[in-house]
Amino acid sequence: MNINYGKAWTQIELTDFCNLSCIMCEQGGKVSWNKKSARVHERKKGFIDRPLFQKILGDFKQLGKFYEISPFWLGEATIHPEFSDLMDDLCSIGHDVFEVVQLHTNLNLLDDKAFESFKNLFGSFNRAKLVISIDAASSETYEKIRLGGDFRKVSVNAKKLIALKKSLNSNVKIVLQFIVMEQNKHEVQDFFNNWGVVFQDMDMTYKPLSTFESHEIHDFSLPIDNYIYYEVLNTHSHEKEKNFNLYTTHVKEVIPELCCSEIDEDKIPIQTDIKIVSLSDEELREIKDLSLIMIKNPDRKIVDKLKLCLEKAYKAENYIKPCASIFYSPYISSNGDLTICCLDSKMDLCHGSLREHSLKELWEGESLNIIRLNHIAQNFEIIPRCQICVIRGQRSQNRQDFIYCFEDTVAYLYGLCK
Ligand code: SF4
Repeated sequence: MNINYGKAWTQIELTDFCNLSCIMCEQGGKVSWNKKSARVHERKKGFIDRPLFQKILGDFKQLGKFYEISPFWLGEATIHPEFSDLMDDLCSIGHDVFEVVQLHTNLNLLDDKAFESFKNLFGSFNRAKLVISIDAASSETYEKIRLGGDFRKVSVNAKKLIALKKSLNSNVKIVLQFIVMEQNKHEVQDFFNNWGVVFQDMDMTYKPLSTFESHEIHDFSLPIDNYIYYEVLNTHSHEKEKNFNLYTTHVKEVIPELCCSEIDEDKIPIQTDIKIVSLSDEELREIKDLSLIMIKNPDRKIVDKLKLCLEKAYKAENYIKPCASIFYSPYISSNGDLTICCLDSKMDLCHGSLREHSLKELWEGESLNIIRLNHIAQNFEIIPRCQICVIRGQRSQNRQDFIYCFEDTVAYLYGLCK
């Protein structure tokens, strides 16, 4: 097997419960996390157990160096009763395996133990991203949006972690997040000004961001201490689309630095050597036939032929390149089930349990290779989740972060041959 794990990322969910019920989040729902009856997907919610977490980290070590780990997925990681112990495990086992750690939190909970965990994390990982979701500049607005949360506590906790970063002279990127929507759009500017004062008082640099896909957030060589990040709530509904445009314009008007900063879509890596070619039906059929033969009979001669076809296909408009996620990103739910995609909260693409199997067995196993070869074949009709995927559509726009590149795809195909 030949997968480029050096570019790969994973999320291991500590819990899918959340302590809040934010109005814009389908995960939060309207039920309390500590009643354990809460469900937003069909699965039973839970907390990962520590032996399983340790076992999974050990599994990653077996695969080799990974780029990034996020110890959360659908819920709020810090509410796990053993959050501190799990972070200890991540620091001790994980820092040899993962180059970067990324954690998103609502930061309502930060007791002394959790504070020590963040200290450990900031100290152990030279590269870390901590995203604190706040979404308001006043208690009144915060508590209307982030139901069950406490604005004062979050502000105090965020300042504590910013000061911690400063005192450790840590390279961690702290990102204060504001999801813009009708209920808070009037506080866009105050949010920027208030946190700007905090950063200035601590003699730290900061910058506004308008997309998490910005190259800046992933580039640790930049001398920026912190970010203030605005994301306009996208409901994917046509009715709300005009609000999306309205709020985007509003944010850019009130935060002029956001327009001038060298970020945004221009910096998203796009394949630029595209010649506008189209594959004929015969060419598409040949790719499909050869890829499907590879499922039953992986053979170097077949790959030699497929390589030639793919060389052209990767430059063609009508070839949807294989999704990066199915090669790069194991997503693991709190019960140890493995899926291949962050969008798959319902686990339609679940490929087994890490309680029963090793990550190597599942990630390099037959059933996932069938999915990968069907992506290369353009045979999406047999993978309904991918068939309806919005990102799959964007991939055809040649976003390099969404696709498995030509060289890696060819190396993978040769790696399948005995
Ligand atoms: S095509 Fe879409 S649904 Fe399928 S794995 Fe990729 S991102 Fe997920």
